[in-house]
Amino acid sequence: MKINEINCKTALSKSKLPGLDYALNPYRGCEHNCVYCYAPSVLNEKRKWGSFVDIKRNLPNVLAKELKKKGRVGIGTVTDAYQPAERKYEITRRCCEILLKHDFPLCIQTKSALVLRDIDIIKNFSDKEVGFTVTTIDDEARKKYEPYSSSVEERLNALRILGENNIHTWVFIGPVMPYITEKNIDKLIDSIAKAGVKNVIVDKLNLKTSTWERIKTFLSKYYPELIPGYEKVLFTKNDYFEKVELKISVLCRNYGIRCEKAF
Ligand code: SF4
Repeated sequence: MKINEINCKTALSKSKLPGLDYALNPYRGCEHNCVYCYAPSVLNEKRKWGSFVDIKRNLPNVLAKELKKKGRVGIGTVTDAYQPAERKYEITRRCCEILLKHDFPLCIQTKSALVLRDIDIIKNFSDKEVGFTVTTIDDEARKKYEPYSSSVEERLNALRILGENNIHTWVFIGPVMPYITEKNIDKLIDSIAKAGVKNVIVDKLNLKTSTWERIKTFLSKYYPELIPGYEKVLFTKNDYFEKVELKISVLCRNYGIRCEKAF
């Protein structure tokens, strides 16, 4: 992993994501190295994804000069702000401290239980939420396609603790990995409910943003028998993702969880 310390010129960038005014991304590159990651295409990044992280060392200082801006800030909209480098660099933590001084509405999305370290800060915002991506209940599968992220159990445990601290939580089941996410989906929804989560968002695997080459290499290594099914789901007209989303929404309804479709 090549770690580069860099300086940035701006901190808060306008966000087009629903419900967000600004995006804040302390890192470029991501050690979690998820096989379906869309960030390289968003960033037009040519370096091998998962092999580098650029640390925006001066981000808290730059952010401190941008506090005239007002609105909801999404942290980690492109790359995970609680990836392993954050344990040492604490850029996200320092940015949260600065945002708290002006009580910006805060939204964090992550795959890392490291967010719990900053609960002492996050819980003091008047308006705050933390979402975890959870795309399978099977941690053996998770290790194969989100290799350096927190385990499924750690994420569910983190969601429970955040909720107990009056921080609104949600789960992003996205992207749905065909035939993997749906396996034991009832157990996943049950675990999400037990973690006290009341909102779920479902998204499909989108090849506009993920690369088929990367996904096919992953499948060839671990699930070669699924390749024809993926090709059918991804390259022919079908309603696979609609059916999975419907199944999830029915399960969610049984637990009083609100389910939203993101595609
Ligand atoms: S955690 Fe997010 S940014 Fe990081 S590799 Fe995974 S999908 Fe990409």
